[in-house]
Amino acid sequence: MSDDMNELDTPTFRLAVAQFDQAAERMNLDPNLRQRLKIPERSLIVSVPVRMDNGTVKVFMGYRVQHDSSRGPSKGGIRYHPDVNLGEVAALAMWMTWKCALVGLPYGGAKGGVRVAPEQLSRAELQRLTRRYASDILPFIGPDKDVPAPDVGTNPQVMAWIMDTYSQQVGYPVPGVVTGKPLSIGGSLGREEATGRGVVYVTLEAMRHLGLEVEKASVVIQGFGNVGSHTARIMQEYGLRVIAVSDKSGGLYNPKGLDIPELLKRYRADGHRTFRDIKMGDWITNEELLALDCTVLVPAALSEQISHKNADQVRCRILAEGANGPTTLEADQILTEKGIFIIPDILANSGGVIVSYFEWVQDAQRFFWKAKDIQDRLQEIITAAFHRTLQFSMAQRATMRMAALMSGIDKVAQAHLARGLYP
Ligand code: GLU
Repeated sequence: MSDDMNELDTPTFRLAVAQFDQAAERMNLDPNLRQRLKIPERSLIVSVPVRMDNGTVKVFMGYRVQHDSSRGPSKGGIRYHPDVNLGEVAALAMWMTWKCALVGLPYGGAKGGVRVAPEQLSRAELQRLTRRYASDILPFIGPDKDVPAPDVGTNPQVMAWIMDTYSQQVGYPVPGVVTGKPLSIGGSLGREEATGRGVVYVTLEAMRHLGLEVEKASVVIQGFGNVGSHTARIMQEYGLRVIAVSDKSGGLYNPKGLDIPELLKRYRADGHRTFRDIKMGDWITNEELLALDCTVLVPAALSEQISHKNADQVRCRILAEGANGPTTLEADQILTEKGIFIIPDILANSGGVIVSYFEWVQDAQRFFWKAKDIQDRLQEIITAAFHRTLQFSMAQRATMRMAALMSGIDKVAQAHLARGLYP
């Protein structure tokens, strides 16, 4: 990593840059462009003071990084998590750029975050935090500039507060400033489940490609947030047996298959959200979960979960990356040598931003689509991206990850070359 990037130098950013370097090397990318695409266009750091319910003021660190806007307004989620830092946000923003280009959305990439444990805040504190953070980044976002969305630790309600704060400032309602909003203010049908649904569509395509039968397949999912829980439910709707799920405290394993709707009901009813007391299978650790023998493993939690430490133990046929950056560079190589078919994050989890795009288009047109249209168009776009990537990977004798990165980066490079350097 060069000295210009010291501020960003964290494990997650190093992973994103190392992936980029590998792809750029293989593509023989112009060295001038290489440097340009490594460093984000704009990085904003804000301190977010919040009056807590007990009257004290706490200050939280907030970020918004816009990695690239050569192909359109930048797009990407906002994460609330205690480990958020500038380097992580910059890595996630870079992945958004490749993801949007790979699937063909007219967007660049961005990401935001606040270093906070949202579950420790009251609803009122969360609202004050969100509105202040939104005010702090307000000059840099907008439907034609940069469009936030939910990510780890945020949800439609948080998006509603951002939309309201922005609209109050400019003086008229601007639904298109964020996606992943509630339906009542211009959200889209199918947005909440979209990432999970996309994971299922590409997994089914991969199984078909590898000649694997749905009836015999088993699925293991790490993470039971927005991505993991919807992936589990929709996998089961398509006839796949989900044998294990987990959250950060641990998971449940039942080789006969878990009844996901029942599990969801009990998990949500629980209030404190743990699988520990739900007696539907054996209680296992996340380490054990990642080592289960299965057809499909879906990491749908945080980054760098599969590393050189545990990659050897992974025993799936397909790795469908619901999370962003779940596999380190070393692990990627180990899994590839083991013959595991990897559907890389920027492809596997692109369903979320694809339906965000639908939401933004619907907001701009003030014309809303039916759920069926959303599902069909999502399936069409993500399936086409899967097959383009597969063809390219076979033609280039490259892994699916390398093929996906190369296609995404190539589209961004073409946009840079067409637009040129200003002045
Ligand atoms: N946070 C999601 C992602 O990482 C969605 C981003 C969006 O919809 O803009 O892809």
